[in-house]
Parts: sequence; structure tokens; C-alpha cells
Amino acid sequence: MQAVVIQSPGVVEVTQVPDPEPGPRDVVVKVAGCGICGTDLHILEGEFAPTLPVVPGHEFAGEVVAVGAEVPADRVRVGDRVAVDPSLHCGECYYCRRGRGNLCENWNAIGVSVPGGAAEYAKAPFANCFVLPEGVSTADAALIEPLSCAVRGFDVLRPHMADHVLIYGAGTMGLMMMELAKRAGAATVEVVDLNPARLGTAELLGCTATAATPDELDRPRGWDVVIDCTGVVAAIEDGLGRVAPGGTFQQFGVSAQKAEARFSPYRVYNKEITIVGSMAVLHSFERAGDLFVGGVLRPDVMISDRFPLADYPKAIEQFRNGVGRKIQVQPFLT
Ligand SMILES: [Zn+2]
Ligand SMILES: [Zn+2]
Repeated sequence: MQAVVIQSPGVVEVTQVPDPEPGPRDVVVKVAGCGICGTDLHILEGEFAPTLPVVPGHEFAGEVVAVGAEVPADRVRVGDRVAVDPSLHCGECYYCRRGRGNLCENWNAIGVSVPGGAAEYAKAPFANCFVLPEGVSTADAALIEPLSCAVRGFDVLRPHMADHVLIYGAGTMGLMMMELAKRAGAATVEVVDLNPARLGTAELLGCTATAATPDELDRPRGWDVVIDCTGVVAAIEDGLGRVAPGGTFQQFGVSAQKAEARFSPYRVYNKEITIVGSMAVLHSFERAGDLFVGGVLRPDVMISDRFPLADYPKAIEQFRNGVGRKIQVQPFLT
């Protein structure tokens, strides 16, 4: 089959690899759509995956074309359309046993450390499959994976009704966090980004206000919840100072591993500021699937570009340049 292979840092090829064979408790998915995200860029730059070469793609959905001998027929069958949770928590280590599988000491993920969905076919455990109901586009359902990271983010935030929320970054993740904040009962959701085109999308989707900087927003007491979806140190340092007394700052965006940010420990103490992180998916994929089926996202807005698999290098370059929103490759795009 045709697949994208990240051979070594900076080297990406679209090439022929053997078709995947399902293990006893696996399915093989014919990929309809696979999203590109910052993690893919980190893998390509050699920052994240210890196991190159790898077929990237941890955000994908498609049709089941083969099932292993032990896959229960009442769970997943050939012909089902599924979105795939890429998490491969070991279930055996200290953190898995404490219910914190996203911190697994033997952490693996489909499309990060084992072959992923940037290919015509991909293998996954049946237990990682969310079966899509009628009326949901298969390719669009690749958005369930990033949405499940956002749902995890809200599990950590534990928001309150009528919070004032400020989000840094109106890329795909910022927009998803915005949609969930609205659902979670926020009184206002404001979005800042330096890119005016991205702010236009946030406005289209119905946030309270947008600006290039919070200085332009009228919230003198600060925000109850500030979420960084940029990973950019300047935004993080600014955001930490915008949290209202008693409020919470969430680090959701992925920074460079060596990045460091400055904040006022006195203010964190004196104003009882909470700082939290959120990493990937934890028991949040099913719930993200339910929200997606319920229409929490507008895929026509969230997905800006659909490329054939052969154009993966072009697609990731466009992503690197910050053009568009969620960019997908579709191996069987016609
Ligand atoms: Zn991702
Ligand atoms: Zn584990």
C-alpha cells in the first residue's frame, strides 16, 4: 500500500510499504481522512518519536476492512466506519494502574511510535474504535481525536458555570476549546491571536470577542480561566498574568521541550492562581465521539484543506506555515 514514512529527522517520503495484517484483537481500517497536527511536525523534526522510521498520523477515521479472530462481532465488524483512539497505554505500569494512562511509563501511540493513519490502511486494537453512526462523514470524524484532547483539557479544568474564559490561539485546538467552553457554560469566551484570518473564524463560530491582545478586551479583573493553545512563550507569560484572582491557567499548547516561561510566584500565592497541564487523551475519546455526533463542531469550518496522500509533504509544509485550520490527507481522495 501507499504510505507516508518519516524516515529520519526532516526526511518524509510517500512510498510503498506492506499492507497491515490484523492481530487477533485488531482491526484494519481503510483510511478516509487523517489530520495533521503539531505532534506530526515535532516527529518530523526529530523531537518526539524515538522510533523512526514511522508512518505518522494519529488523527484518523475510516472503514473497517478486516478484523482479527478475537474481535467481538457485537463491537466492530467489517464495513463499520470508525474513528480511532491512537492511545496505546500499557495498562500495567505505575501510572496506568493509578488511572493515569496518558502518563504511561511505556507510552505508545498509533502514528507516533507505531504505524499510523497517513496511509491507505492502518491497524488498530478494536477496543480503540469508536463506531460512527449513520449521517456522520467518515473523513470528518478524524476530528474526534483532537476533540478528545480538548475534552481531556476540560476534565482537568473542571470549569464552573459563568466563567469568563480567555483563549490564546485560534488554530484548530483553540477553536475546539472555544466550542467546549461555550458548552461548559462560560459567561464569555474571548480569543486572542496575532493572525486576523484566524480571529475571523473564531468570530464566525460565535465567540464573545476577539483581539490581537487582551489589552483590547474589557476585562479589568482578568479571566477566571485562561487557556494557552499556542505553546508560544510570549503568549504563555502574558496569559499567566491575565488570570483573575482565584482563577486557573491551563497549559494546553505544546511548547518546545526546552522552553522556559517566567511568572510571578507571589501573584500565584497571593491571588490563589491554579496552573494546570493537559496531555493528550485520557478516557475522553468516547465522550468526544458523542459530542462530535451531536454536532459540537462544524467540520466544514474546522477542516480547511484536503490533500491526496502523495501531497503529504506539501500539506505539512502548509501546516508549518500556519495557513488554514485542520489540514487532512485523504488516501482515496478522488
Ligand atoms: Zn494531534
Ligand atoms: Zn502504562
